[in-house]
Amino acid sequence: MTQDLTAQARELRALLRRYAHRYYVLDDPEVPDAEYDRLYQQLEALEAAHPELVVPDSPTQRVIGAVLEGLTPVRHAVPMLSIKTETDTTPAGAAKFDLGVRNALKLPADAPPLAYAVELKFDGLAINLRYEQGELVQAATRGDGETGEDVTHTIRTIGAIPNYLKRVSAPVLEVRGEVFMRRDDFEALNERQRAAGAKTFVNPRNAAAGVVRQLDAGIARQRPLSFFAYGLGEVQGWDMPATHSATLDALAALGIPVNEDRAVAQGAEGLAAFHARIAAARDSLPFDIDGVVYKVDDLALQRQLGFKSREPRWAVAHKYPAQEQMTRLLGIEIQVGRTGRLTPVAKLEPVFVGGTTVSNATLHNLFEIRRKRVRVGDRVIVRRAGDVIPEVVGVVPEPRTGYVPNFRMPRHCPVCGSDVVRERGGMDHRCSGGLFCPAQRKQALLHFASRRAMDIEGLGDKLVEQLVDGGAIRTLPDLYKLGLSTLAALDRMAEKSAANLVAALEHSKSTTLPRFLFALGIRHVGESTAKELARHFGGLDAVMDASEEALLEVDDVGPVVAQSIHTFFQQPHNREVVEQLRAAGVHWEEGEPAPRAVLPLAGKTFVITGTLPTLSREEAKERLEAAGAKVAGSVSKKTSYVVAGEAAGSKLDKAQELGIEVLDEAGMLDLLRQI
Ligand code: NAD
Repeated sequence: MTQDLTAQARELRALLRRYAHRYYVLDDPEVPDAEYDRLYQQLEALEAAHPELVVPDSPTQRVIGAVLEGLTPVRHAVPMLSIKTETDTTPAGAAKFDLGVRNALKLPADAPPLAYAVELKFDGLAINLRYEQGELVQAATRGDGETGEDVTHTIRTIGAIPNYLKRVSAPVLEVRGEVFMRRDDFEALNERQRAAGAKTFVNPRNAAAGVVRQLDAGIARQRPLSFFAYGLGEVQGWDMPATHSATLDALAALGIPVNEDRAVAQGAEGLAAFHARIAAARDSLPFDIDGVVYKVDDLALQRQLGFKSREPRWAVAHKYPAQEQMTRLLGIEIQVGRTGRLTPVAKLEPVFVGGTTVSNATLHNLFEIRRKRVRVGDRVIVRRAGDVIPEVVGVVPEPRTGYVPNFRMPRHCPVCGSDVVRERGGMDHRCSGGLFCPAQRKQALLHFASRRAMDIEGLGDKLVEQLVDGGAIRTLPDLYKLGLSTLAALDRMAEKSAANLVAALEHSKSTTLPRFLFALGIRHVGESTAKELARHFGGLDAVMDASEEALLEVDDVGPVVAQSIHTFFQQPHNREVVEQLRAAGVHWEEGEPAPRAVLPLAGKTFVITGTLPTLSREEAKERLEAAGAKVAGSVSKKTSYVVAGEAAGSKLDKAQELGIEVLDEAGMLDLLRQI
């Protein structure tokens, strides 16, 4: 044996230990699993060829894991082991395992196929649930297999895990299974973290592990986890079924969550068929799996097969192509979304991940890039799981060879040239050319036409697609140039519908200023802000020319909204579109400026409840609002008046309880007349 091989084995062990520490102990992996597996197999092959290189604490010989400071160690009554991994993702991988088992059992070649329990390999972390007399008394992680961590406090927050088993009073029943986070819960969690500028998780496994291994159960409560059982630990006084599959059925009957996607397969062919079936379903599963697991179903045969160092001989994990891979970041481009959001997109050296070749992945936003310290030229980890857009989840640290400037967001929209803005305190950069920007055209049109905006009946999703993609509409005002002949020539458009749409367009031209302002789709300008703006300024030109300070005087307009309105009207293209719409005949009645403070009911809050004798609630609300009042949905100490009609319920009671003045419709009308 050469010095070289010893050194190579030592280096591999050191690397694997380092990566395993980051993965198991810190829940913050440095490299993708595929890279860890590659090195692991390299070490395994080296040790197989040169058994003298094996040392007892080699990562191939023992499960790596340590108890996190602050958590109490738990000694497992029955060790929690690992499973051998088969990385040949083709059916040959299944045949190899079957043959190995048959050989180990010394079965003759013509013996009938063996029965295997086949399951999904959930990508989470292993947990041992200890039930005594049917009651959950302790939950522990795997740790190094001998000693895990007591995580009863966080596991109790998982709704799916019962505190009491149904109909069982065995002195001891330890259930083993996987705690994991569903993909939608994971995406939502990361979205919240991103919005808060906090650290995001690389994948659901790490998120789940991070949550379970918290000292504080409060955090676990906010981050939903799920659980599926796949086996047993220590058992006393419970009638064990004869097969693994029947054991899982029995656990399900006790109220323990067991995944339905499992079966009993016959021989290598049955295994390969299951592998293929799940491969096809993998993307549509609500959670991540990294393979399937095959287990000899007969428990007596399992005992006969026994274990080899850290792994049972009767089970194997047959993997799928990895959902995370390393590749090189070649560049960063900017994509403008339908809502104007600018997303930095990584241009990657093409890499096979999650079953397809990926060359683009999202980097989310500028702050994610900064936080992850991503620079062009770096080795990055790309994740593609299910239908979720591929994303860059991290950087694999390595020395940079030259100076690479930090990435910056462009100052102007790469699509339309309008100013790019970031809201105060916000994480996203946006194009401010909402009405003009081709990237936002469809969204802008749909919003413009919506019922509460310009109310153009018949202008829906499909039609907007056709009109924009076919080139009939390039800018918003083109809408009012649409003629019968253009419309009737469209796919699936009957002459009658075309005529109706032309009439609806004509009808929409006569509108109100609040509707028009709302229709422009200015970020943060909803219906009520549009109403306030119209009331405050009276006419459109005054709104368009208002400074941020002037906008701040409008009721309910704060700095973020003021900035958004101001920037919008600062864009020459947006102003042009507004002018063209007016030129096309869109009109409304302008009013006098009426700052809220001078309106008689300014500062008063009303609540309307029950059925009024003559006015609808909407009408009553409009009249009160026109006088400057605010109309709220619930009664509080801040309510000035409650207007109560027929069948008024709890709101009236509350008003009386708080001593708030109650008016009937006549009283309200009187009040309005007096002011
Ligand atoms: P493993 O995770 O591959 O397999 C054993 C585990 O599978 C069990 O502990 C159990 O938790 C789980 N499992 C899920 N479904 C199961 C089922 N139906 N039946 C039985 N068990 C099921 O083995 P391991 O030794 O825990 O870890 C190896 C894995 O960890 C590899 O995928 C490796 O890539 C990854 N890893 C990655 C890094 C890194 O740096 N990225 C470091 C260390 C380990």
